[in-house]
Amino acid sequence: MSDPLTIALAKGRILDETLPLLARAGIEPVDDLSKSRKLVFATNHPGINLVLIRSADVPTYVQYGAADLGIAGKDVLAEHGGEGLYERVDLKIATCKMMTAGFPDRPLPRTRLKVATKYPEITRRFFLERGRQVELIKLYGSMELAPVVGLADIIVDLVDSGNTLRANGLTPLETIMDISSRLIVNRAALKMKNEAAKALVEKIEKAVE
Ligand code: AMP
Repeated sequence: MSDPLTIALAKGRILDETLPLLARAGIEPVDDLSKSRKLVFATNHPGINLVLIRSADVPTYVQYGAADLGIAGKDVLAEHGGEGLYERVDLKIATCKMMTAGFPDRPLPRTRLKVATKYPEITRRFFLERGRQVELIKLYGSMELAPVVGLADIIVDLVDSGNTLRANGLTPLETIMDISSRLIVNRAALKMKNEAAKALVEKIEKAVE
């Protein structure tokens, strides 16, 4: 039998929408992912394994070929830069927007804007294109708190319903990009495991339609 293919999946919010999609493509984990502490899972296909990792690590695993394929949000991919991997399919799941957000009634400083975010690369590029000088404050979570406690003037974060912003007195300001999950493939895997990898990409593509 040829080498098995490994698909890297992100833990958390995206997983709930990813598993039904994979099931439609005929790929189902043998164990219940939500009830297990395992990180590697066999599937009903002997040639396909799943690894469950943090979303921000998915592009890195695929880039280095530790996983042949991966499913990650456009936010994570844009922040990573996409080196060594192909973005093959827009899975149209876990959709939301990457936005700037701040207080609705507070004028922004004319000089250096302080921006708190988990996405420093995307944020840097966005403000650079606008010729705006910003001070980036890298956070790992709860961005909404930063303007409330005066750590930053605005934030850059994912917005879905807008409830999280509203609950903290913030409002969406500008859209930076539309987000959805994407199927990514390691460049070398597509050459070396050509047949199997291509067939799997096609199966998942069909499941989206
Ligand atoms: P909401 O309150 O519905 O606007 O959701 C905003 C919160 O959920 C923020 O903390 C986001 O980081 C997170 N979030 C929303 N959509 C997504 C998504 N598609 N993927 C990952 N995190 C998300």
